[in-house]
Amino acid sequence: MTDAAKLAVPAPVQPTLPIVGSAERFPVRRIYCVGRNYVAHVREMGGDESRDFPLIFQKPTDSVVQDGETMPYPPMTDDFHFELELMAVMKSGGYNIPPEEALSHVFGYGICLDMTRRSLIDTPMGPRLPWELKKSFDHSAPCGPVYPVAQVGHPASGRIRLEVDGVTRQDSDLSLMIWRTPEIIATLSRYFSLEAGDIIMTGTPSGVGPVLPGNVMVGSIETLGTLTIKVGPPVGG
Ligand code: MN
Repeated sequence: MTDAAKLAVPAPVQPTLPIVGSAERFPVRRIYCVGRNYVAHVREMGGDESRDFPLIFQKPTDSVVQDGETMPYPPMTDDFHFELELMAVMKSGGYNIPPEEALSHVFGYGICLDMTRRSLIDTPMGPRLPWELKKSFDHSAPCGPVYPVAQVGHPASGRIRLEVDGVTRQDSDLSLMIWRTPEIIATLSRYFSLEAGDIIMTGTPSGVGPVLPGNVMVGSIETLGTLTIKVGPPVGG
């Protein structure tokens, strides 16, 4: 598209994330998510504990919510859950990345929330489906600032903890991930060409639960600071 091209409707805004220690920002291309990646969370969900294949889905790019912002309580659920996760963000990619080369494509890491409509009201589908409606809705991807690899390395262990209104709800360690970051990148790249700007949410530990309007969630991961998100009034209902 040339600069002179006229758009029929306003161009979508490119979501970006702040980068710690830099005036530059990280532009978000796609948001990939891995489900059921900590055994204790698989157990609390009553899921299959086999390590056959990671569960993969996406969220829309424009579902990003910034650290410190208020996110609305979404429509069509009365069971709106937090899932605190480590995110890896990509500086490059491609197809068929070997696990041993995967980390060389990572720009940095941060904290994110995979917000989930655990149940859907008036939705005539099975209890586990459809994932799009449960996972890929507006404002479903709060993301904290990006910490470059040069500052924090590649976190493979460290405490991951979520408080809601000052009460600890999730408290685990990154070392308990079933699929490690290099394996996730390698697997995703067999199906998609990973590119600069892609975010990968790596799954939540146990302790997931509901939030209501007025609740404040504060997530933390050792070396990656905190992510603070308030739940606002309902929208769309
Ligand atoms: Mn998740």
